[in-house]
Amino acid sequence: MSKKVRVRFAPSPTGGLHLGGVRTVLYNYLFAKQQGGDFIVRIEDTDQSRYVAGAEEYIFETLKWCGLQPDESTQHGGDFGPYRQSERKESYRKYAEDLVEKGFAYYAFDTGEELDAMRSRLRTADNPSPQYDRTVRMDMRNSLLLPKEEVDSLLQQDTPHVIRIKMPEGETVSFTDVIRGEVSFDTSVIDDKVLLKADGMPTYHLAVVVDDYLMQITHAFRGEEWLPSAPVHILLWRYLFGEEAMPQWAHLPLILGPSGKLSKRDGAKYGFPVFGMNWKDPKTGEVTEGFKEAGFVPEAFVNMLAMLGWNDGTEEEVFSLEELVQKFSIEKVHKGGAKFDFDKAKWFNHEWIKKLPPTNYKLQVKNIFAAKGVEIMDDVYFEKVLELVKDRCTLLPDFWEHSFFFFKAPKEVDFTPVLAKWNVSKKDFFYSFNKTLHSINDWKASSLETLFKQLAESAGIKAGELQLPMRLMLVGGKFGPPVFEIAEVLGKAETITRIESALEQAP
Ligand code: GLU
Repeated sequence: MSKKVRVRFAPSPTGGLHLGGVRTVLYNYLFAKQQGGDFIVRIEDTDQSRYVAGAEEYIFETLKWCGLQPDESTQHGGDFGPYRQSERKESYRKYAEDLVEKGFAYYAFDTGEELDAMRSRLRTADNPSPQYDRTVRMDMRNSLLLPKEEVDSLLQQDTPHVIRIKMPEGETVSFTDVIRGEVSFDTSVIDDKVLLKADGMPTYHLAVVVDDYLMQITHAFRGEEWLPSAPVHILLWRYLFGEEAMPQWAHLPLILGPSGKLSKRDGAKYGFPVFGMNWKDPKTGEVTEGFKEAGFVPEAFVNMLAMLGWNDGTEEEVFSLEELVQKFSIEKVHKGGAKFDFDKAKWFNHEWIKKLPPTNYKLQVKNIFAAKGVEIMDDVYFEKVLELVKDRCTLLPDFWEHSFFFFKAPKEVDFTPVLAKWNVSKKDFFYSFNKTLHSINDWKASSLETLFKQLAESAGIKAGELQLPMRLMLVGGKFGPPVFEIAEVLGKAETITRIESALEQAP
């Protein structure tokens, strides 16, 4: 029987989630759900100097908004916890020491000054930042060259030290990436990375391998920026647990901005944020407006992200999360970077606003209206209005300009647009039309239109010439959906009142 699929998203809580990060979560999630597997979120906070308070909460809020619920995490529990690496600190040392014992790693006692001295000694124009690697390791202070007794005594005296991997010379490390196929690295050019730091914390490299093993991860999908670290991880797997136990790797291509790599600055420049939500940088206090605040619905955001680097092989682009779970295939993720296009993102949002019932987003729209000073009291009426105008909206704030007049009767009606053709018989028409409205029971756009046309005909006026004045009376300007549909939603009493008060102002 094949192993249960277990994937993980392993963010470091160093800031807000960017677009690429959320897409990594999404692809992990889609794959796990499709395979009936588990989706785990592990917080990789071993580099405490880069820790940003609030980042972890932000990550989980983003996932919640997107509807990507983890099966196991710091917030959701699970049998493989703790899911925060700093809380697993004690579990890593034994693996690092095991590597030293097997000769794959070594203790290094070099002080900061000694490391600086090595770097300034070797720095040249061609080699501006010399590494601690096979070419220098035998000139340094480590257990590879110090006598065993000295190493033991240094350790006994608690001399600050790290454990470094001993990168083999001249080996080729290869693996099959699910997206890229065969990938190879020459170990001679890779430095002796620190695995365990002086404070006993593991580095990312050791922690990620140990935890993927202990948490029984079967597939590791992560950003392409981690590809250079892959050979280190593969060697650690080989030395500690055996390569057969290793997860299958997929390195996801970068998301590109219009002019190359997508950066936060790009976000500001092109008028869109990279973050999924409002993110206040605790260091600078700067708030980045996110997709949520810009008025995206999560369905569109998720759909748009899924399509950044993947499609199902057809022209189809609009997919719900459930459909994506069925159709997604990690092998079909494109190798090249995907270009983020804000206009396309807006197109997805427009499609989803049209597709979804207004109940899905009415709360957000209510807040937008509240900020404009309009409190919504009648939800049934509100939903009818949203349903009527939703096809005209791209982002949620657009609902305001397309429907504010349903909640605010025009105070003054400007008849200028119809003045040239206005006359007393048209005014009389509206008096009698409004009177007839009182007796209508079937308050539907179609019945209203029929009545309107009949009355116009018997008054000998072209109905087409009366529609714009009617619109002006109902909404105060030359805008809005079809006029009888507006009247239907406004309701009988409000329509009559609006026409009445407009006629009082009519020339
Ligand atoms: N902690 C790494 C990050 O911040 C995880 C990389 C991986 O998935 O292996 O992205």
